[in-house]
Amino acid sequence: MEDIKRIRIVDLLNDGESLVGKKVDVKGWVRTRRGNKNVQFVALNDGSTIKNLQIVFDLANFSEEDLKPITTGASIHVQGELVASQGKGQSVEILAQELEIYGTASVEDYPLQKKGHTLEFLREKAHLRPRTNTFGAVLRIRHALAFAVHKFFNDKGFYYFHTPLITASDCEGAGAMFQVTTLDVENPPRTEDGNVDYSQDFFGKHASLTVSGQLEGELGATALGCIYTFGPTFRAENSNTPRHLSEFWMIEPEMSFYEIADNMDLAEEFIKYCIKYALEHCADDIQFLNDMFDKELIERLHFVINNDFVRLSYTEGIKILEESGQKFEFPVYWGVDLASEHERYLVEQHFKKPVILTDYPKEIKAFYMKLNDDGKTVRAMDVLFPKIGEIIGGSQREENYDKLVGRIEKLGIPMKDMWWYLDTRRFGTVPHSGFGLGFERLILFVTGMQNIRDVIPFPRYPKNCEF
Ligand code: ATP
Ligand code: MN
Repeated sequence: MEDIKRIRIVDLLNDGESLVGKKVDVKGWVRTRRGNKNVQFVALNDGSTIKNLQIVFDLANFSEEDLKPITTGASIHVQGELVASQGKGQSVEILAQELEIYGTASVEDYPLQKKGHTLEFLREKAHLRPRTNTFGAVLRIRHALAFAVHKFFNDKGFYYFHTPLITASDCEGAGAMFQVTTLDVENPPRTEDGNVDYSQDFFGKHASLTVSGQLEGELGATALGCIYTFGPTFRAENSNTPRHLSEFWMIEPEMSFYEIADNMDLAEEFIKYCIKYALEHCADDIQFLNDMFDKELIERLHFVINNDFVRLSYTEGIKILEESGQKFEFPVYWGVDLASEHERYLVEQHFKKPVILTDYPKEIKAFYMKLNDDGKTVRAMDVLFPKIGEIIGGSQREENYDKLVGRIEKLGIPMKDMWWYLDTRRFGTVPHSGFGLGFERLILFVTGMQNIRDVIPFPRYPKNCEF
């Protein structure tokens, strides 16, 4: 083959007009091949766009034998002349002149034949599903959203702060933890009183995977001003829902000198920015998902961008639920930890808009949240979204040393683990706030997918750690 530079299909389709009449070089995976005895058409995809490039093989130049290995899933390299397309649905196509086959994909064995597969089936083929249109679209959107997260915070002067994934504090308070150990689990060393002797473990103490970077994030914020984390988080909860993963990515900004209202403003601006970024940069992929799965997706995304989120206290929210006349599976009363059905009623039925719920009873929220003057509620804020429920959980933090210690003692959290965290309140304490956004829940919303297992390449959930 001639020594010419390979061009990505997205670039050919976007600005290929200037290359019409020239010889171009493309590589990718075959989606389909069809045609007759005179001419064959191959739809080629290289992952750079949802769109396929049509390659025309004139059987005057290629034998049927040449084309036989070109089945769905095969990888090929083609050079040929770029021409304005005759057919509808594409602006340009390639008249193949040279063909190299990298790898075949046997029709009997390759699981992703043309026919539409269910998402459940594809979950069992998660090693290959990135090659489907749906997962290609989702994964490109995921990438764009990750990029948007960094751009948003960087442009605002926030610092990307790396918090540890392995932690020795058991009291992060956000859920059950996975233990990290190098001890022989069959036969661990024991102390005299019969407990496992973690002083002999790798770190010399009991260690786990983090459920949140927040506590260390506060150390960053009370030094650098505003920081954000963006990394994996692990929760060993047996939550078999379409909104929970055992390993998920979380974005946790933490800001000195922010009060709860500033925190809400930031959360709303941040989510809207990410959605807008995806609409601008992933228009084809979002359109595809809209057409395939969810005809109201694009409308819903624009609606969220263009409308203010409702801001409402927990107490007011409870009142609305009590007066709704709805029959809920879990009863509603002041003090209850809201279930997904309650959150979704407020968002989807009552307000028909995203809602930021604030000032929750202190009993159902974490120890570090700032106590309100009423002595009963804390400055928590949950952002609730249509179809998703909770997408963000956050709060203003208790900056008063004595009040914070009081909470820790009341809840019986082991103080010896908390000394370093308390130092933020002992030395130069400041009002500060932050929140956690579950990255996959944001992707769920932007893609319109129904199940969180379909918006991360390799989902981890109870009884599943394949691939
Ligand atoms: P939920 O009530 O939905 O289980 P949570 O209140 O335990 O969530 P937080 O500890 O507040 O969650 O975590 C902050 C954010 O992280 C949540 O708002 C959500 O977007 C996301 N999140 C929490 N748990 C999970 C999970 N298991 N899988 C995916 N995302 C999660
Ligand atoms: Mn929460």
